[in-house]
Amino acid sequence: MSQSLNRRSALKTGLLTLGGLAALPQLSKAASRIHNDGAFADAPLSLDTELRIFRSPMVREHYLDAALDKAKITVKISSNENPYGPPMSAQTAIAESAKRGNRYAWQEMNDLVGKIAKKEGVTPDHIMMGPGSSDLLEKVAIVEFMKGGNIVSADPCYMSLINVAKSVGATWKAVPCKADWSHDLKAMEAAIDKDTKLVYICNPNNPVGSITSGKELLDFCSRVSEKVPIFVDEAYLELAIGADTQSMVSLLGQNKNVIIARTFSKIMGMAGIRVGYLAAQPAYLDKIQKITRGGMGVSYTSIFAASASMDDMAFQDMSRAKNAETKAYLCGNLDKMGYKYIPSFTNFVIFPINIPGKEMLTKMSAKGIAVKAFDIQNKPWCRVSLGTMDEMKQFVGALQELS
Ligand code: PLP
Repeated sequence: MSQSLNRRSALKTGLLTLGGLAALPQLSKAASRIHNDGAFADAPLSLDTELRIFRSPMVREHYLDAALDKAKITVKISSNENPYGPPMSAQTAIAESAKRGNRYAWQEMNDLVGKIAKKEGVTPDHIMMGPGSSDLLEKVAIVEFMKGGNIVSADPCYMSLINVAKSVGATWKAVPCKADWSHDLKAMEAAIDKDTKLVYICNPNNPVGSITSGKELLDFCSRVSEKVPIFVDEAYLELAIGADTQSMVSLLGQNKNVIIARTFSKIMGMAGIRVGYLAAQPAYLDKIQKITRGGMGVSYTSIFAASASMDDMAFQDMSRAKNAETKAYLCGNLDKMGYKYIPSFTNFVIFPINIPGKEMLTKMSAKGIAVKAFDIQNKPWCRVSLGTMDEMKQFVGALQELS
């Protein structure tokens, strides 16, 4: 059971008037906390009857009470950021390009697009840039679903595109992941109907960190994209060391209607600098760009930072190696403590816990540590991002004290 609250309609009905707030103090606190986080401020807020954030039929997210002072957080391992970035090469590029920031960066953007297209083995008209991949996920959601339709995805899965699609009128067909938390591609194909406008795949998948076999996914995307476009979010792909998977970008050369999202926020360590791109068929991108402007949100300095970080293989290799090292350290300690984590192909690890999610958040934050807590199928889980080794030691120490 979930209750949906749209801020505008709530204001209209008086729910968020002073009287309404007094009647629903906990709900208002939750609503204001989400608003303060900045994301989806005007989107429908969905809280379940226990006032957890309703993410999906399977997933509820806990949140820290606004009263708890976020300023005291010293170990931020909640948002899957790369603790080593931005690379020095990108910082230098930003400093050097800042003085030309009075100009629009049309030509510089074309250069970056050309460089990305070459890397992906496609022509430049297959690439659309954005200030982070979130922006592009949202643009696709708005354009695809402004006239309704449904979206098929796994559950659990990354919710950004789905939330926006729902906000503009889509219905969501959530297909439970398989027992190993990979995508159930057969069930997803069966869920497609005449109103399906898009299939969304997140590989590796957030928040579970799992991988879906590259061969199976390639076959699925190749066949099913003949019926409906398939959006594959590859935000963590560069971190999936040893995984039986691959990018779906090769399908573009076979004229398949797939849309691949990539980001500079993870392996490149530039979450705050905001660069991402889509690789898709030119006709598909035209459809999105008729209504939205690709690349317009990427700043002059970010263009240069992106270009520099693409060339900085030493930084990317270092990030990957350190990520593997901290993951091994964390998982080794989780093993010792008896926590049964999902094998991760990303820069985060999720595992079931034996205290309520909200208590986990509160106790960790008291030690200056920010993590995520979810209920998945009504059981509490903690998702921890891989920070520096020192941060992971602090987290492991805090977890040992809780156990
Ligand atoms: N896709 C997935 C699967 C993510 O986990 C994230 C961020 O955590 C994003 C996309 C958005 O990344 P950004 O907007 O920073 O490119």
